[in-house]
Amino acid sequence: MTSLNLEECNKCRERVGIYKRNYSGEILCKACFLLSVESKVKKTMNCFSMVKHGDKLAVAVSGGKDSLTLLYILNKISKSMANTITAITVDEGIGGYRSESIQIVKEFCSNLNIENKIVSYKDLFGIGIDEAMAIRSSTKVTSCSVCGTFRRRAIDLLAEWNGANVVATGHNLDDHIQSFFINVFSGDVDRIGWSYPRPVEYGTSGIRKIKPLLALYEKEIIFYALHQNIPFQSLECPYMNESIRTEIRNFLNQLEETRPGIKYNIYNSVLKISAGLKSQISHKGSTKCLVCQRQSTNKICSVCKTVVMLSGQSSKK
Ligand code: SF4
Ligand code: ZN
Repeated sequence: MTSLNLEECNKCRERVGIYKRNYSGEILCKACFLLSVESKVKKTMNCFSMVKHGDKLAVAVSGGKDSLTLLYILNKISKSMANTITAITVDEGIGGYRSESIQIVKEFCSNLNIENKIVSYKDLFGIGIDEAMAIRSSTKVTSCSVCGTFRRRAIDLLAEWNGANVVATGHNLDDHIQSFFINVFSGDVDRIGWSYPRPVEYGTSGIRKIKPLLALYEKEIIFYALHQNIPFQSLECPYMNESIRTEIRNFLNQLEETRPGIKYNIYNSVLKISAGLKSQISHKGSTKCLVCQRQSTNKICSVCKTVVMLSGQSSKK
């Protein structure tokens, strides 16, 4: 992101540019920048057939800039497609972090007149992240691995309880390419194929997961949120440095500094690689988890395994 002074907007040729899009070289004024972000979101949604007329959307909203921007833009564009929107929020049980963002979400939703449903890990799984980290017996059990496993289930449940058939999340271009490298480094090739953005229906309720902000740099989303006066939480999760994601993020940001636009090239490469891999993914047979009865590729699903593992560690303390 580059803020400019006194250069003409390349789109309208009338106003002064405030933003330079590094990978395309475009200089945009505030109004043209905001429009360009919204049209990029629409283009991504059309390109990957993310939403159909009449879909019921559950938008996962954490209180950060990505999810609130997503909710704001979807709310703007969904009316023409007769889509309903519910904001769904997960409270991970991270002291001093989540309480502030939940308050921001509540106020933002109330201003947009959107219903907000909240559920906590404590209610669903009997334990929050702070408690889980306090009793873990091995540093191999990372906060983000437990949190990610619980979050996927919590979002699925909230969406189902609210009759949604589409779950939208605020993953941006930076998140997408970081996840690609995480999967490469962990050897999880199937997951690269699954990351291809054209949604498929999954589970017994046939929910589709979509990522409409996928083609936007994180910095563009921050710039958009600031210029639309979208309030967001800037505090970072206290556990974020436990994940390899932070190192990958720093590395990619350094590359982008010296080679502007390189993240966009990586994004396009990731799309092609994941499209190719998607067609070759090995489809393991699906069964029902013996504990929770939800669809799973193993006899016990990853959520129930995690709950059992944590309760075992809790009883040893
Ligand atoms: Fe959960 Fe990790 Fe994200 Fe914190 S950084 S909210 S622990 S996934
Ligand atoms: Zn289970």
